[in-house]
Amino acid sequence: MITRKSRDEIKRMRHAGHIVALVHKKMREVVEPGISTKELDAIAMEVIKENKAIPTFLGYNGFPACICTSINEKVVHGIPNEKEILKEGDIIAVDVGATYGGMVGDSAWSYAVGSISEDKKRLMRATEEALYAGIAKMKAGNTLDDISGAVEDVAKSYNMGIVRQYGGHGVGHSMHEDPFLFNYRVGDKTLIKSGYVIAIEPMLNLGGDEVFVEDDNWGVVTKDKMPSAHFEHTVLATDDEPILMTTLME
Ligand code: MG
Ligand code: MG
Repeated sequence: MITRKSRDEIKRMRHAGHIVALVHKKMREVVEPGISTKELDAIAMEVIKENKAIPTFLGYNGFPACICTSINEKVVHGIPNEKEILKEGDIIAVDVGATYGGMVGDSAWSYAVGSISEDKKRLMRATEEALYAGIAKMKAGNTLDDISGAVEDVAKSYNMGIVRQYGGHGVGHSMHEDPFLFNYRVGDKTLIKSGYVIAIEPMLNLGGDEVFVEDDNWGVVTKDKMPSAHFEHTVLATDDEPILMTTLME
């Protein structure tokens, strides 16, 4: 069942989303060659705790960290590790959730480590553009398929692979609520109503669509080992323009 969030729930989610945005602001500053993903996790934890929130991911289905760090061909769900050191030319997707007042904000962003190849730049541009195309359709009266289709169209215009097994989701009292949101058209005519909050999160690949889960049962990697990017915002539907919940508040 998809729930419409009350004003009070939305207020708390907006605060959670602000904290998530603070983590990303910090990531933008510290992502550089030489830092380990474990250090990134510790920094994210600090920001979340400083702001009196709870790291949503830590312990979620047993996940051992408060961010997911997915480098190059890793798509999502990478576990931070002290031996995993960022190097020039990498791209890293950092996914983070914060819970504040019982409500969750969820946002992922891909970052360039130093200077990256033109292909990786194009992949990141395509994925970010797909995210915003999806967000633009998050309006009362549209369907879920309108969002999915907008994401798919951008991915196809850049000739990028689309990860099929993972997608966006409702978010609120818990990180994953109904509905599931595909990143390509499936014909889902579910109507969007004001008060729905959905995490929209395209995962695009420079190569093919295919991915597999690594031996640690978490990390998801492209089958062809080509790079993948991930951008995500938590978004509130209204009768008017969509509202981003995971940006910095003024
Ligand atoms: Mg996320
Ligand atoms: Mg998500």
